[in-house]
Amino acid sequence: MLNVVKNFDLVKEEISMYKNVNIVAVSKTFPVNHILPLINHGHQHFGENKVQEAQEKWTSLKNDFPNLKLHLIGKLQTNKVKFALPLFDYIHSLDSIKLAEKISLEQEKKNFKPKIFIQINLGKETQKSGIDEDQLKNFYKKCINELKLNIIGIMCLPPFDQEPIPFFKKMQNLSETLNIKEISMGMSNDYLKALKYKATFIRVGSKIFGSRN
Ligand SMILES: *Cc1c(COP(=O)(O)O)cnc(C)c1O
Repeated sequence: MLNVVKNFDLVKEEISMYKNVNIVAVSKTFPVNHILPLINHGHQHFGENKVQEAQEKWTSLKNDFPNLKLHLIGKLQTNKVKFALPLFDYIHSLDSIKLAEKISLEQEKKNFKPKIFIQINLGKETQKSGIDEDQLKNFYKKCINELKLNIIGIMCLPPFDQEPIPFFKKMQNLSETLNIKEISMGMSNDYLKALKYKATFIRVGSKIFGSRN
């Protein structure tokens, strides 16, 4: 637990040559007492993958530390959108039109617009969520023009058993084609590779907080 701050500083040091990179410290499964040292260290960006766990851990933390930014990195069910806003400042997992429509309604109701990444299914993996590459442009246009979503970037989760570099490369190309600047990619095992291909948000969990179970 005391190592959390040390681990974080090592990651920060390691990536210091890359400018304008946000480290999303992924604290899923870890209790608040493991997270607090890093908050007190001044870090502001944290990631969770489940809405309910985030509500339990972060509702009062965000009251105590109003500068914290919470990122939803896991799948968002449409029936949980009402609990996700305004708790989450960033949503990395927009993966369907149905979800986009739901967020659009909810952000209107709450008068709070989260920053959103479109999750892309690069591996065409049937078990994984995300928008297919060939539908991305239309999806993006609909999200910004009709649904008024604040789309800031694209996100991917490459197949865990494959070399990620071709996927990261693809993401860089897509971001240039669409002219969307932010790219959420890279986890504990591959963030250095992701940064070579212009990742701007890396999602680092176990390297900071230790292994989960
Ligand atoms: C858990 C998780 C991470 C962090 O994984 P680590 O390998 O522990 O760094 C990043 N992104 C997503 C979507 C995750 O679910």
